[in-house]
Amino acid sequence: MRPKAVLIIEDNHINMKLVRTLLQIGKYRIFEAVDAETGIEIAKEQRPDLILMDIQLPGIDGFEATSILKSSAETRDIPVVALTSYAMDGDKKKAQEAGCEGYICKPINTRTFIDKLTAFFRDAKTGGANDNR
Ligand code: MN
Repeated sequence: MRPKAVLIIEDNHINMKLVRTLLQIGKYRIFEAVDAETGIEIAKEQRPDLILMDIQLPGIDGFEATSILKSSAETRDIPVVALTSYAMDGDKKKAQEAGCEGYICKPINTRTFIDKLTAFFRDAKTGGANDNR
């Protein structure tokens, strides 16, 4: 089976490096963008199986970027998982309202990250999974 492709939209290079490393361990194919505009372009061109969306981004933020992706026929079927700050409780609700299928809290738990992603893929068609910890 072809490895699943994940697009990471994240402007913090330390978080990007961490997520990239974890996805490499999980044998995913990886696309990367450091801002939402580039991420949306890559989403349209490459049609990844899942998008990991940082919320705080330069320019268009992760909520708005998700709304844009979900309002386009080209990209609305791609599950979006928000990378939300653990401290920012309201972000989970806003992520959901923007159309995200789920969220993963930052700081990222390196031991459970790949299991959570696997769950998102499994549950994407049945209403999503969330990072309740
Ligand atoms: Mn950020």
